[in-house]
Order: sequence, then structure tokens, then C-alpha cells
Amino acid sequence: MNNQIKFYQSIKFKIALVFALVLLLTVEIVGAVFIRQLEHQNLSTFKNQIQLQTYVTNSITNSLSKTDLDKSDKEIKTILNDYNPTSSAQIQVIDNKGTIRGTNEINNQSIVGQKTTDNNIKTAIYNNRTVEKNTYDSQNSKRYYTEIKPLIKNFGNNSEVVGAVFIKANLDPVYQNISNITVIYLFAAAIAIVLGLLISIVISRAITNPIEEMRKQTMRIARGDYSGQVHVYGTDELGQLASAVNNLSVRVEQSHDSTESERRRLDSVLSNMTDGVIATDRRGNVTIVNETALLLLDENEDQMIGKSILDVLDIHDKYNLRDLLENPNEFVIDFSDQDHDLILHAHFSLIQRESGFISGLVCVLHDITEQQKIDADRRQFVSNVSHELRTPLTSVRSYIEALTDGAWKDPELAPKFLKVTEDETDRMIRMINDLLTLSRMDSGTQKINTELVNINELYNYILNRFEMILKKDEHPEKTYKIRREFTKRDLWVELDTDRFTQVLDNLMNNAIKYSPDGGTITCRLYETRNKVILSVSDQGLGIPRKDIPHIFDRFYRVDKARSRKQGGSGLGLAISKEVVEALNGQIWVESIEGRGSTFYIALPYEPLAEEDLWDEV
Ligand code: ADP
Repeated sequence: MNNQIKFYQSIKFKIALVFALVLLLTVEIVGAVFIRQLEHQNLSTFKNQIQLQTYVTNSITNSLSKTDLDKSDKEIKTILNDYNPTSSAQIQVIDNKGTIRGTNEINNQSIVGQKTTDNNIKTAIYNNRTVEKNTYDSQNSKRYYTEIKPLIKNFGNNSEVVGAVFIKANLDPVYQNISNITVIYLFAAAIAIVLGLLISIVISRAITNPIEEMRKQTMRIARGDYSGQVHVYGTDELGQLASAVNNLSVRVEQSHDSTESERRRLDSVLSNMTDGVIATDRRGNVTIVNETALLLLDENEDQMIGKSILDVLDIHDKYNLRDLLENPNEFVIDFSDQDHDLILHAHFSLIQRESGFISGLVCVLHDITEQQKIDADRRQFVSNVSHELRTPLTSVRSYIEALTDGAWKDPELAPKFLKVTEDETDRMIRMINDLLTLSRMDSGTQKINTELVNINELYNYILNRFEMILKKDEHPEKTYKIRREFTKRDLWVELDTDRFTQVLDNLMNNAIKYSPDGGTITCRLYETRNKVILSVSDQGLGIPRKDIPHIFDRFYRVDKARSRKQGGSGLGLAISKEVVEALNGQIWVESIEGRGSTFYIALPYEPLAEEDLWDEV
């Protein structure tokens, strides 16, 4: 916007101009009427002045009526001489024959007795009519007023024109007078106009300055600067307008502040929401998007704004905007790819004005990946449990059937069959116990009773047990030995002895189970700055790379048949993981297929000072 107003466009200029024009027009009209009136007045005064008085015209009429011409001429001469008019008018007396009978001009007495050449005089006498005329003498460039008045003599009822009086007067003094007054008038008018102009400038400034101030203030408001105040000069309309502008500024600031705080609140609500929110205009183009939505969709805001929601959610194959607007719905969108899983629940609703006009859509995205995974896991778990139980049960049932069918009588078969059913039942009991342990750990009802334990001792104790079993076994299937690589230092760690024993038993059992050719099982114990590390390495089958991430999952087994044959339930490592994590530790595996595996357990460890140990004792 161009804020600069040219001077001739400004109200100041316009007011001053109008004022000046009105003033000029007034002065013009007043001047014209006044001068016209003045002229008229002066002329009529002048005419009155040069008029012969009645007694003079009567005397002249009488003289003209006399038959004695000489006497009559003398009388006329005397009358004209005696007559002393206020003006220097030239007077002639002419009889009805057209002869000039007298004049008041001393130097022009010679014309007396001559016939007049002036046709106007003849006409006036002939028609018995007064003739008045303004003439201009171009020789001496003077204006004259002439008046020819017939002289009438009454005889009883009759009357007769006996002659006429011709008066000629110079009008110049009259006009001179008028022009003098006109000059004075014009001078006064010029001063009035100049003064008027000055006043108009002052007045227009008085009007436009507050307007200018208000203009600047409103522009500041438009820019968002509410700091200024307009000066209120008075209580007139402009003063009230200035107060209104000041009020407006306060109101706009307040409403701007409240809109701003509303916006900030909305922003913080949106950005703190754990759900993604996307708002669109009525054409379905994104207008607002919160951070969660950006994170979920792995986009940045600039890319999202203005894009169609159908493209953003990649749903244009299944839905069009009309569907969403007419029937805002909710559905699940699967964004999963090879690298990561992402399943979103999208809930659409309309943004509607009070009038019912639909101004856009709001889509709330809820990440249900975890939930879906949990659901899938749960389904998988139920199916696994049923499957795991069905296999031993079927086998138990078939042996019992065989026994019932007569095998019980067979002294060789019967004990074998019963042994199998007993083993299978034991396996089921073990599995159910494992499941119960896991379920208790899941629900948090399984208590972890920690105590400060010398882990070197505990580990040795467990390994001794395994060595004892090894020694007792007179006909071992395979030969293996246990090697210990322990730190010399005693390490005291907070743990639940029973649970932790279960974990180490499990690792040792697995190491034996999955080393069909025996070999050495190396057990290590060492500490880092804040951790105690235990490891069990075998020289067995090892674990294929693809299975490594899953072996701590419930029921996961690399080779189901082998594991089952070995009496495994696929829950051992899952329980171990739960226990180690409950002790704030970590468990992991390193393995090479065909070469062997190493399971590691890291537990939090704080080296104890001497006096702490004495405290314990
Ligand atoms: P299971 O009762 O089947 O042994 P685990 O949870 O203890 O169940 O182990 C899960 C799977 O991990 C086993 O079925 C096996 O395939 C694999 N596994 C565990 N320990 C070893 C090991 N030391 N060497 C090779 N494979 C192992």
C-alpha cells in the first residue's frame, strides 16, 4: 500500500481549495451586485443633479412662448446665466422650430439663433417625448449623458410644445468615482481572500491533523503495533472519532491477544497430543498438522501443508473426498514396510460452521501398531498353547488307548508306555508351570525378592550341581565338560536367588541340549565398571542368524521337533529374559550356526566398599 498521499489529493488541499473558491465566488457575486448598485445609484443621483428645476423650466417655457424674440432670448440668457447647476452640464434651449435659443456655455454663444442639427431634439419636440441617452465621444474619449426634455405650455385645455431643453453632461466623474470605489473594493476583496485562504489552511489543518494521526494509528494497528494512542483534541466529531480509534486499538489488541492465546493453547494442545491431528480445508488440502502426525507419517510440515489428505494418507485408491465429506468414518491404514511396522487408526470428522457449512475435515491418527501386535501375539500365543498341549495330550491318549486295548497285559510294553505317558504329563506340567510363571510376571504378581548375593558362589554352586549330574551319569549320551573362567574378585549383586538360579539352569540345560556332540561349555564371570557379566558358551549347533532376534520369544524354537524331543517348551529363554529384565539386567546371545552359541547376562553392579561388607555381616 502506498502511504504517501500527494498534496493535491489530500483533504487539506481540497478543504483549502473549496474554501478559497467559495470565498472567491462570494466576493465576485457581492462585488458584481455592489458595483452594479453603486453605478445605478450614482447615475440616478447624477441625473437628478443635472435636472433643471421646475421653476427654471417654467420660466424658460414662458419666455419661449413670448412673441418678442429678442426679449425672449434675453430672458432665456438671463435664466441660464442665473441658473447655477451643481454640475458642469451643457444646457441648450431650443424652440419648436429647431432654433437654438440659448446656451449656458459662455464661449459658445455664437450658436444661439442657429438651427439645431441634432435629430434627437427634433424627434423629442415632434413626439413630445423626453429622450435620454448615454453617448461616447470617441474624439475626446469621454462619456456623456444627454437628455432632451420637451417644454410644454398649457393654454386652458390645450397644450403646445414650445421647445425643448437639451442637457449634456460629462459622465466621466461619475464613472471615475465608481472605478475608485471598485479599486478599493477589489483591494479589500483581495485582502479578504488572502486572509480567508490563511484561515482555511489553519482550519483544514485543524481538521486534517487529527485525521492524519488517526490514519497513522490505524495503519500501526494493521501492522500489529498497538502501543500508540491518538491525541484527543476535543469533544467534537473528530474528538469522538479519535476516542473511538483509541478504544478500537485497545479492543483489537485484546481480541488479538485472546486469539493469540487461544491459538497458542490450541497449538500446545495439538503438539502435546499423543495422537496425530491433520486438519484440511473443504477441498481436502492440509491446513494444520501437529508434530505427532508429522512423526507418524515421517514428513515435514512444509511438504504436508497444501497437499491433499488423500495423498498424505495414501488412500486415494479406496476413498475420494466426497466419501470422506459425506460419510466421515474411521478406518485402519497400514503403513508397514520391510523396515518397520506402522498401523494407524484414522478417525475423520467434519469441521462445520453454525450455518452447517462444511469448512473442512479433521483427521485424528492413532498409532495402533503396538496394540495390533499385542493382539496378534495374543492370538498366536493362544494358538501356540493349544497346539503345544494338544501334541502331548494326543500322544498320552494314544498310549492309554493302546494300554486299554490290552497292552497293559504285556509286561514289556506296559512299563514303557506308562513311562512315556508320565514323561509327556511331566512335560505338560512343566509347560503349564512355565506359563504360570510368565503370566505371573506379566501381571506383576510374581514377586522378585532381591538380596545381596555373592554371584561367584552362586554360579559355582549351580555349575557344581551340573558337574555332579555329569559324574552320576554312568552311561552318558555324550561327553562334555564345564570350564570356569571366573574373576578372582568376589562380586556382590542384588538378585532373586531362586529366579536367577532358574535362568542359569536354563542356559546350562540349553547349552547341553543343543550340543549333540558334547564339547566344552565355558562359563565366564567378570565385571565392568558398573556391570557384572555372566556368559555360557557352548560348541553346539549354534543359532541361524535369522532366528537370533526371536529366540527370546515365547514358544519360539529353531527346530521344533528337536526341541520337543529334548523336552523343551520354548518358554525357557522367554522366562529368563523376563527375570533378567526384572533385575534391571540384559540378556543376549551371540551365535554362529554350526559352531556354537554364547549367552550373556549383564546385571547392574556397584563395587562395594569394605565397610558395606562388614555391615552385611
Ligand atoms: P526350549 O525349551 O525349546 O529349549 P528355550 O526358550 O530355552 O526353549 O529356547 C528356545 C530355542 O532357542 C530353542 O528351541 C533352540 O532352538 C534355541 N536355543 C536355545 N539355546 C540354544 C543353544 N545353546 N544353542 C542352540 N540353540 C539354542
